Amino acid sequence: MSHFKAPPKKNLGQHFLTDRGIIEHIVHAVDPRPGDNLVEIGPGQGAITFPLLKKHGKLTVIEFDRDLITPLSEAAHGVGELTIVHKDVLQVDFDKLAGEGRIRLVGNLPYNISTPILFHVLEHCLHVRDMHFMLQKEVVDRMAAAPGSKVYGRLSVMLQAVCAVTPLFDVPPQSFNPPPKVDSAVVRLVPRDPAGIGIRDHALFEAVVRDAFAQRRKTLRNALSKQCTTEQLQAVGIKPEIRAEQLPVADFIRLANHLAAGG
Ligand code: SAM
Repeated sequence: MSHFKAPPKKNLGQHFLTDRGIIEHIVHAVDPRPGDNLVEIGPGQGAITFPLLKKHGKLTVIEFDRDLITPLSEAAHGVGELTIVHKDVLQVDFDKLAGEGRIRLVGNLPYNISTPILFHVLEHCLHVRDMHFMLQKEVVDRMAAAPGSKVYGRLSVMLQAVCAVTPLFDVPPQSFNPPPKVDSAVVRLVPRDPAGIGIRDHALFEAVVRDAFAQRRKTLRNALSKQCTTEQLQAVGIKPEIRAEQLPVADFIRLANHLAAGG
């Protein structure tokens, strides 16, 4: 539901939610509790913002569109304490925003930059308790894919290595104004305890995952020929003739850690 009118801007990925049922679903999924530090990325016309603010009394929003800042601030009068950060979300330091605690992120993300936003947030995931994001359904499918699936790839491994990924529900184009060309879905991401993940060298892990999937049809032996030998693959129990799309996330971590240890 829009709380004021502003024509949608295509270059900012503006597709405003208009479906009351979906908005309620999102608020219900977030289920804010007293003391939670809620942060919304891209409040737009406030479709999710104001229901959350009414329920929780307090919210921080990050919005890049200057035309929305004053209307958002005016619409918040008498509803709750709305802190507006007028910035590109890719420039926001979430560690600062979180202070001593951890934030809970919510957002119907601008689809044109959804993957860079995900990777930016993941860099700060020590300070994030959980995330509820609306994304293209195709992206959510890739995020949540299991080994063996056609869409299991770099995004699946990079995300699942550091977060529990739970797709929640699908959202059709007609729930937005203007309707996007694609189906959407809401996903919950919960960062794992970094001590439990145990990635020794994050840059090396990223490089292994990137190279493994760079040419999906190659066997791991060939795809990773610059990174490691057949013997190193075998040393961690990985069959050199399988392809990246068959390798579970835990095996990617074990392999990268073996290489980081000079194995
Ligand atoms: N939350 C609103 C809703 O559900 O109706 C709007 C969602 S709309 C898909 C995406 C929002 O992100 C827009 O308000 C847009 O202006 C904002 N946005 C786009 N790029 C941004 C960026 N780099 N940083 C912060 N906000 C951005």
